[in-house]
Amino acid sequence: MKTIIKNGTVVSETEMYQADVLIENGKISAIGRNFVEADACVLDASGQYVMPGAVDAHTHISLQAGACHTTDDFFTGTRSAVCGGTTSVIEHLAFGPENCSLRYQIERYKKAAEGKAVIDYGLHGVFQQVDSATLQEMEELAAEGIASFKIYLTYAFALSDADALRVFRKAAELGTPIAVHCENDSIVNYNRARLVSEGKTAPRYHALSRPNECEAEAVGRMLHIAHMAGDAPLYIVHLSARESLQAVREARAHGQKNVYVETCPQYLLLTDEVYERKDALKFVMSPPIRKAEDTEALWQGLADGSIDVVATDYCPFNFATDKQLGKDDFTKCPNGGTGIEERVMAMFSAGVMQGRITPSQFVKLLSTNPARIYGAYPQKGAILPGTDADIILIEPQAQGEISIRNMHGVVDYTIFEGMRLQGCLRIVLSRGEIVYRDGVFTGQEGTGRFLVRRV
Ligand SMILES: [Zn+2]
Repeated sequence: MKTIIKNGTVVSETEMYQADVLIENGKISAIGRNFVEADACVLDASGQYVMPGAVDAHTHISLQAGACHTTDDFFTGTRSAVCGGTTSVIEHLAFGPENCSLRYQIERYKKAAEGKAVIDYGLHGVFQQVDSATLQEMEELAAEGIASFKIYLTYAFALSDADALRVFRKAAELGTPIAVHCENDSIVNYNRARLVSEGKTAPRYHALSRPNECEAEAVGRMLHIAHMAGDAPLYIVHLSARESLQAVREARAHGQKNVYVETCPQYLLLTDEVYERKDALKFVMSPPIRKAEDTEALWQGLADGSIDVVATDYCPFNFATDKQLGKDDFTKCPNGGTGIEERVMAMFSAGVMQGRITPSQFVKLLSTNPARIYGAYPQKGAILPGTDADIILIEPQAQGEISIRNMHGVVDYTIFEGMRLQGCLRIVLSRGEIVYRDGVFTGQEGTGRFLVRRV
C-alpha cells in the first residue's frame, strides 16, 4: 500500500519547502520530487500545508471525578482528536484506589484504550504516594515506555514539597519529565471555603478562588525544588498566569535547565469575561480562564520560545447534566473543558493566520516539542524518512467555524463555539491510513497502538 502526497508545502519545526511525500506500509519512505508509482494512491496537496500530525500531550479522555465520568471512552475521544488533526495523545490518568501502585492505573488504562483508540496513545504515570516502592516502579515503567510521570500539588493526592523532591531526584537520574499541576492547595481550599461561607457560589468565584499568584507561587516553588534535585526535568502543565511565565524566564536566565512549559488554547483565546455569561459553568476548569493581560503574555511566550507546548487538558463533561451540578455552588461543578478536536485549527487560525506564530513554530508547539520532550520523537512529531506517516493537510485559504454541530465527539458543547476559522483541515493520515477527510471520520475503532516512549 503506497500513498504519495503531491505538490504540498512540507513544514518542519525549522523550515518549509515544496516536496512530495512517499508513504509505504504506514511509514514515510521518501521525501522528494516526481515519484512515479503506478499503484499508489495520490493525494494532491496543492495550496496546502503538509504537517506532522499533532500530538496532544495532556488529555483526560477517561476520568472519573466524583460522581461524574468524562463523556468519552478511548474510541470517541480519539475519534474526536483525529478529526481535529491530532494523531497521538498522551493521557494523564485519573487517581486509583488509595495506596495503589503506579502500575495499577497504567494497566487499567491500557485495557481501556486497547481495541478502542483510533490513534496511537501514550500514558503518563501518576503519583498518589511517594515511597520506595513507587520510586522503584518509576524505573521499571520508564523501561516499558512510560517515560513521564505526573504529580499534583492540589486535589486528593497532593504531594508535599519533600515528596516532590524525592520524585524529582529519581527523575533526574532517569531523565523522565515530571509533569506538575502547580497550584497552592491550602490557599485554594481556604479561598473556596471562605467564598462559599460568604454565599459567593456563582461560577465567577471559581476564578477568584484560584488567583494568578496561587499558580505562580507553586510554579516558583517547583522550579526551586527541581533545581535542588540537580535540574530534574520539570514540565509545567497548563501554565496560565503571566507571573508564572515570568518565574520560568527568571529561572532559565539564572541557568536552570530542563524546564518545559505547556499552555492550552483556552488560556490563549478566552478571557475571564466568560464567567459573566449564562453558560459560565462550561468554563469551570483549573486553572481558571485568566485576563487579557495573561493571554497577551502567553502569546508573547509562544512567539519568543518561552512556552514549549500547546496541549489541551481536555476533560469533557456535559453541560446539560454534569456541569449543572455546580449551578448553585461552583465547588460542586466537575472541573474541565473541551478542546481535543478544536486545538489544532483554533491555534492555526489565531496563531499562524493572524501572524502571531510562524507555521514552523506552530508545528514545533503542537507536534515536535511534545513528541521530543516526552520521548516519542522522531517516530511522532516529524516528517522524515522512516518515521510514522502521521500527517495532516491544512488549506490556509479556506474558511470554517468551530461549532458543536460539525464535531465528532460526544460531549454536548465546545468552549470555542462560534469561533471563525481561517484555514481548514482537509486530510489526516494515521500511520499512512486516511482517517479523516473533509469533515468525515474514515478511520476504524481499535487501530491505535500503545506508544512506547523513551527519554
Ligand atoms: Zn489535566
